Amino acid sequence: MTTELLFRNDAYLKEATATVIGVGERGIELDRTVFYPMGGGQAGDTGSLWSASGERIEIIDTRKGERADQVVHVPAAAAAQLKPGDAVRMELDWARRHKLMRLHTALHLMSCVITAPVTGGNIVPDKARLDFDIELSLLNAEHIARETNALIQRAVATATVWITDAELDAQPDLVKTMSVQPPRGAGRVRLLNIPGIDLQPCGGTHVANIAEIGGIRVLRIRSEGKHNKRVEIALTDSG
Ligand SMILES: [Zn+2]
Repeated sequence: MTTELLFRNDAYLKEATATVIGVGERGIELDRTVFYPMGGGQAGDTGSLWSASGERIEIIDTRKGERADQVVHVPAAAAAQLKPGDAVRMELDWARRHKLMRLHTALHLMSCVITAPVTGGNIVPDKARLDFDIELSLLNAEHIARETNALIQRAVATATVWITDAELDAQPDLVKTMSVQPPRGAGRVRLLNIPGIDLQPCGGTHVANIAEIGGIRVLRIRSEGKHNKRVEIALTDSG
């Protein structure tokens, strides 16, 4: 049994009801979830599950399982006794998730400012980073912050687009414009479109309009090896 990933169609869903489909050593599985499991560099969600009797189960992390679309909600120690068939209400730590969405979308913009292959990335609630295969001397913190913030000020609405492998094959020019090549073989690929700025395959959670990011500052730039130059950012209104 797989889990319906509600966040894929609505990243702003903060609460929903679900039914427990499995309880294991790693955590709790539900028939549907608003919790994003760690992946694509983005941290897993935290929050609460509420049992029918009103008991709160704190969720301290969310991870992918072994099967596709399998999501494991990791409870704090001394979790309540849930069993398959139990109804629960899910509630995200929305303040934390919204920061992750703003930082994640900011990285899409920054990847358009720095024109070099992306070799890695990570997003946690108070900061985010991308690694680039580029000369360290070509990275200027002031320039990166100014250009990324100029893109944010365009206040463009983002759009999630699903495209089939066949449609991708029929549009080689579209694929050429993408900074990251879409994975093939799953039948269809989820793309994030920031019209006029960025189009790339991504399964993460994003803000509806890039204006929501507000602004970013560059925390630091450093070398993590010959092909990894790391640019770390934070939101201007946090920390
Ligand atoms: Zn993304």
